[in-house]
Amino acid sequence: MEEQWTAEQYREAGKLLIRESDPAKQKEGLDYILKAFRAKDPEAMYLVGAGILNRKYKTDAKDRTEYALSLIETASTHGIPEARSFLNEFCRERYDRTLQAEAPGKGGTGPLRGFDGKIFSINRTGLRTPIDAVLSYENGRNILRLSADVNFAFTEELKDPQSFENAVIRGIKDWEGDYTVFGGQPLTVRISLTFGQKLYDSVIVLPVAKSLNRLVQNHPNNPMKQTIDEKRSFIIAGLGKWSVTSRKIIYVNCEDFEDSDEVSDVTKHEFGHALGLGDLYLEEGVFEGVPKGSFRELDPYHIVNKTYFLVMCDHHGPISNNDIEMVLLAFHENKMQQYQAKGKNKRISIALGQGD
Ligand SMILES: [Zn+2]
Repeated sequence: MEEQWTAEQYREAGKLLIRESDPAKQKEGLDYILKAFRAKDPEAMYLVGAGILNRKYKTDAKDRTEYALSLIETASTHGIPEARSFLNEFCRERYDRTLQAEAPGKGGTGPLRGFDGKIFSINRTGLRTPIDAVLSYENGRNILRLSADVNFAFTEELKDPQSFENAVIRGIKDWEGDYTVFGGQPLTVRISLTFGQKLYDSVIVLPVAKSLNRLVQNHPNNPMKQTIDEKRSFIIAGLGKWSVTSRKIIYVNCEDFEDSDEVSDVTKHEFGHALGLGDLYLEEGVFEGVPKGSFRELDPYHIVNKTYFLVMCDHHGPISNNDIEMVLLAFHENKMQQYQAKGKNKRISIALGQGD
């Protein structure tokens, strides 16, 4: 009877069996999951990857960790939430073991100091800055306050504009939190948003739904055509050059605008660009990718083949201390911060290679 099972049935039966106390049943469960895995079931891919790391499965792979993480990453890109949280946890633990030990809460009192030991200042406000950034020292804490007016357009075509807007706001707010920067100094990031109150310096957010798609189809020479056809999101932040004052227009493109986790995570990534960060991608002919071992603060998030479980590489990935250092530098220097050299942008951020 079992011969007619689908991959999903094997996986679900396997999941139940591995919870049994009888080792024979557990073994049977592991075998079932393996059958689902061989049939390319994404959740089984996650379960086998995690099983390899937990020594439940053997592998001939040269680097068992890399192989296991690549399976879990594939599951993550197929939308398996357990795979995403597993990667998050795994990378965070690896980070804590290495980087935290390196900078055990050094500093912590006094205004923030940069890599050069000098007091670090950011005060970008005004009519021409779509995202205001102010660094202040209050009651013994360093706080970076980011504020922006968000203007939604073209949302009326969506089935549920409100849930889309909420997901976008969530993606932007994901950048808030407590971080450690410039050699172990604590920093809190806060974000305050207003909506459609400003005429000039707002961050504009557009879903690439029907009308925008039609506009692109009617203009085949549009440089963003391929990106839009591939259902990828992007940002226009000045004419190829990011600055504090460049306009920030975020185009959110999704297979499914109802998938609020997806909308929120792609916004999180695109907002990273609005904050002055480059991509950490590996993309043939465009980005060479950053090999493992290049920068010690990125390595804990390394997955496989120049990819990282970090927001500017995988939009489901977390925001790291290093990303925040780069945001600080972007607003301080008024220069986009790159993870890798690309075309004219040969300069890599000084945040890389110096720890957090
Ligand atoms: Zn990007």
